[in-house]
Amino acid sequence: MQRTFSIIKPDATRRNLTGKINAMLEDAGLRIVAQKRIHMSQADAEAFYGVHKERPFFNDLVSFMTSGPVVVQVLEGDDAVLKNRTVMGATNPEDADEGTIRKTFAESIEANSVHGSDSPENAEIEIRFFFSDREIVG
Ligand code: GDP
Repeated sequence: MQRTFSIIKPDATRRNLTGKINAMLEDAGLRIVAQKRIHMSQADAEAFYGVHKERPFFNDLVSFMTSGPVVVQVLEGDDAVLKNRTVMGATNPEDADEGTIRKTFAESIEANSVHGSDSPENAEIEIRFFFSDREIVG
């Protein structure tokens, strides 16, 4: 059993897609063991995406992620990191496979509806960034 970290991004909460995305996560075999709706501060977004600090799209990404509410989640399942990346689809929705969340819902490479950890190590760090142990109920 593995855990991963997920975000339903502002483009998706704005379009009231939380339930539809959660259904796709659950249908993929993932269990939502923690979830809360928050509005990320600029400091949160800058720290969370710190690895992308030098990328040309960093400032746009921070503005986008703070432009509205997000839903942060902990997902649990066998191979949860890979399972979530598979159901999310490629970063650019134009490259994403049919039936994935990004192919179905993303508006652009930036407003791509969901975030998912890319490794078990990063999942642990990202979960800790937003959740305490008592908020995660498996
Ligand atoms: P992910 O792991 O698939 O989310 O992709 P990355 O870690 O490479 O990028 C993080 C996030 O930055 C993506 O989910 C997008 O929201 C955004 N992003 C990535 N590439 C670009 C880009 O070329 N332009 C813009 N504007 N945003 C991007």
